[in-house]
Amino acid sequence: MHFNPCDPYDAAALYDMWLNCQGCPATFDFEPSRPLGLDYYHDIGQRAKAERWVVREQDDPSDPLGVSYLVLCACCGDRFGMVPEAALRRAPAPVIAEICSALRDAEAGVAA
Ligand SMILES: [Zn+2]
Repeated sequence: MHFNPCDPYDAAALYDMWLNCQGCPATFDFEPSRPLGLDYYHDIGQRAKAERWVVREQDDPSDPLGVSYLVLCACCGDRFGMVPEAALRRAPAPVIAEICSALRDAEAGVAA
C-alpha cells in the first residue's frame, strides 16, 4: 500500500507533519531518522490507525478551501467517546491533493 490522499489518517500525517493529540500532550511516535516522504506519512498514518488514534477531517473555520484534522490519541478518544472510523473520502481534499502531487514531483526529481 502507498500513500492514500483519501484516507484521513494519511492525509493528517502529511498535513500536520506528525500527529499531536489535541486532548493531551501525547505525540504519535514518529521516526525522525527516516527520510520524509509520502511513504513515511503513510506509515505514520496507518500506524496511528492501528493504535486506535482518532483522526477526523473537519472544516477549517479560517479557510473555506482548507482542511484541518481532529487528532486524538486512543486514551482521549475513549475519554471523549470518539471511536476511530476508517471513512475514506471519495476525492482527496484539494489542499492534500496539491501537497501530495508536489511531493511526488519532488520525489521523482530526486530519483531522476
Ligand atoms: Zn490524548
